[in-house]
Amino acid sequence: MKIAVLKEALPGEARVALMPDSVKKLLALKAKVLVESGAGLAAARADAEYAEAGADISADRNAILAECDVLVTVNRPPADVFNALKTGAVVLGFLRPLDEPKALQPALPRGLTTFAMELVPRITRAQSMDALSSMATVAGYKAVVLAASSISRMFPLLMTAAGTVPPARVLVLGAGVAGLQAIATARRLGAVVEAYDVRAAAGEQVRSLGATFLDVDLGGLKTEDAGGYAVELSDEALKRGRDLIAEHAKTADVVITTAQVPGRKAPLLMEDEAVDGMKRGSIVIDLAGSTGGNVTLSKADEVVERNGVTILAPTNLPATVPVHASQLYSRNVTSFLSLLVKDGELNIDMTDDVVGPSCVTHAGEVVNARVASALQSNG
Ligand code: NAD
Repeated sequence: MKIAVLKEALPGEARVALMPDSVKKLLALKAKVLVESGAGLAAARADAEYAEAGADISADRNAILAECDVLVTVNRPPADVFNALKTGAVVLGFLRPLDEPKALQPALPRGLTTFAMELVPRITRAQSMDALSSMATVAGYKAVVLAASSISRMFPLLMTAAGTVPPARVLVLGAGVAGLQAIATARRLGAVVEAYDVRAAAGEQVRSLGATFLDVDLGGLKTEDAGGYAVELSDEALKRGRDLIAEHAKTADVVITTAQVPGRKAPLLMEDEAVDGMKRGSIVIDLAGSTGGNVTLSKADEVVERNGVTILAPTNLPATVPVHASQLYSRNVTSFLSLLVKDGELNIDMTDDVVGPSCVTHAGEVVNARVASALQSNG
């Protein structure tokens, strides 16, 4: 069986779905690997490195698509790629099945089996396949580095002959995977960090990183589901959080927002007044831009200036750290592929508790119930 990787088509995308070290692992599963020429260049991997790892390199994209049994991607491929695949082929990548379900419809007439990395269940057995966590880790790190290089002051406390420089103050909203990595990175740079999350369990993790956890009294409200994820809160509960945030944003040099509720629009955490209360020269980085944003003033992938405060909402920070983002992603997808390949042949077991839930389309049907209902509500 043949596994293929193409150069990503999305503008600004520098990641590649497979790195050369993963090629070796796939060959060990007795699969062949086809790589489009130049696929890894933006992630600093030349064709020669793929060839040395044992992949076949070709500049003929259509020939690769016609020949492969599995296409591994970072982003959802465009419809013409789906159409060029052979009937019954497998596609694996970040397919955005819940927020853009219609875009997967070209997979149906071709009978493609599509697997979305977003749907890989976060169970212990699938930890090595958790690409959402990998990318959130990169984004949380990069948000802090971006903030540190954008503001007009330094992060660490410095005591010099010319006087003392106080540490920067960083406020992190949402202490999941991205938020915790942002806290850790900001602490390493010497900032004083405060963080807020609706999940009480996040408090201990925040404190263990040397940051202060901001507690808000939500009157015993249920804030997380059985899987440990945040649930959508009432307007009243959200408002209490926003009031606390606005108060602490006044003294912050950097605010990084990462709050998400799976399958829903991102919760609104900072209204205009909260940004207006911030100091000149400070910055807000909204990492929830792709799901509507946590900050009313943020605009996805644009720079907004308001009374000396800069607001950024980069939607693809992992692509700005392509080597390590690709390395982590490549290991995640390779781990997933090891479930689909047996003795060098495709062997899809839909009863497997990782494979089944990750599947979106199979044999001309949408097989994931959440995606099917998202399709209906999207008209
Ligand atoms: P996420 O991206 O869905 O959300 C980010 C954070 O935003 C979460 O911590 C959430 O509680 C928070 N949030 C949501 N609404 C909020 C609001 N109104 N105000 C403030 N914060 C709000 O979550 P994630 O980072 O993918 O992970 C969330 C949880 O899942 C964490 O506990 C994480 O450790 C856990 N997790 C477990 C596994 C695993 O067991 N394999 C893997 C990854 C993550």
